Amino acid sequence: MSGDLRELISAANRAFDQAKNLDDFKSARLAHLGEKSPIALANRELGKLAPKDRAARGQEINSVKSEITTLARTREEFLITERDNRILVEEQVDVTLPTRNSQRGGLHPLTILRDDICDLFIGLGYEVAEGPELESEWLNFDALNIPADHPARTMQDTFFIEPLSSKLVLRTHTSPVQVRTMLDRKPPIYVICPGRTFRSDELDATHTPVFNQVEGLVVDRKITMAHLKGTLDHFATTMFGDGITTRLRPSFFPFTEPSAEVDIRCFVCRGESDDCRTCKGEGWVEWGGCGMVNPKVLIACGVDVDEYSGFAFGMGLERTLMFRHGISDMREIVEGDVRFTAQFGVGR
Ligand SMILES: [Zn+2]
Repeated sequence: MSGDLRELISAANRAFDQAKNLDDFKSARLAHLGEKSPIALANRELGKLAPKDRAARGQEINSVKSEITTLARTREEFLITERDNRILVEEQVDVTLPTRNSQRGGLHPLTILRDDICDLFIGLGYEVAEGPELESEWLNFDALNIPADHPARTMQDTFFIEPLSSKLVLRTHTSPVQVRTMLDRKPPIYVICPGRTFRSDELDATHTPVFNQVEGLVVDRKITMAHLKGTLDHFATTMFGDGITTRLRPSFFPFTEPSAEVDIRCFVCRGESDDCRTCKGEGWVEWGGCGMVNPKVLIACGVDVDEYSGFAFGMGLERTLMFRHGISDMREIVEGDVRFTAQFGVGR
C-alpha cells in the first residue's frame, strides 16, 4: 500500500481518538470519511490515472476506506457506552432517602353510605332531591300537617332562628324537601332526599343534635302500601344482607295516613335467640318510619288526591350505619377521629 494512503489511516485514527464526546466524533468522521475527506478526493482522482494503474489503486483505496470505517465504528460504540454510563451515574436517585409520609384523605363513612343509598334508588328510577337546611316553619311543619300546638314545635325539640318573627327553623327532618318537590313539579314523583337535620338534643350514645336522614317519596297513580312494603324490603336487603326484610308496625305521624314504624329483622340473631342483646329477644329492631302520604299534605302541595296517591319513608343515616357496622356509640360517627373513619377505607 502506498505511503500516502497508509498516512490517511493513522490520521483518521488519531482524530477519532482525540474526539472525547459524540459531537467531536461526528466532526472527525465527516473530516475523514465525508465527501470532502482525503479518501473521497483520492477516489475521485482515480479517473486521471492510466487505465493499467487504476484497478490496483482502486482496490487500495477501498481497503483503506473500509479500515477507517471500522475504526470509526469502534470509536463511536466506545463513546456511546461511555455516555450511557455517565448518564446512569449522573441521574441516579438515592432510593434510601426518607420520604415525606403524607396521608390521603377519604370520604366520611356517612357520605359513602349516603352515596350508596342514592345509587340504589337511582337504579330504581328515583331522582335525588335536596333542599336548604334553614327552612321556613310553613314547609317544615304546617305543610306537613304539624299544627302550631304540636309538641314537635316546642323549643325543646327545634332550633328556632332569631328573630322569631323570621319564621325560620333549622329543619327538623328532610320532609320539607318532599313538600318542595311536590310544589315544584307534577306527578309522577319518585325522589330520594338525603340531608342534614337538626334537633336540640344533647350529644350522647344514641342522640346527636345534627344528624342525617334519608327520605323517599313516591306520588303516582294507584300507589298502595304494597309498593311501599316491596320498596322497603328491597332497601333493607340491599343495606343489611339477604334475609333481612321489614315489618310494618302501626304508628302515627301527622304527614302520613296510615303510618307505620319500619322494623327490620334482627341482623344479629335473625330472630332465633331469646336473649339477643340487640333486639332483646324481639327478633326485630326499629329502623325508621313510613306511611301513605296524608291527603291533607297532598292537597297542601296542590296534588289532585282523586287521581294520585303516594307513600313516604324516612330513616336515620347514622342509625343505618350503626346497624351495618356494629357501632354502638353515635359519638364515634360525629367526633371526626381518623382512627374511626380510617377503618372504612380512604381515597374512595
Ligand atoms: Zn336479635
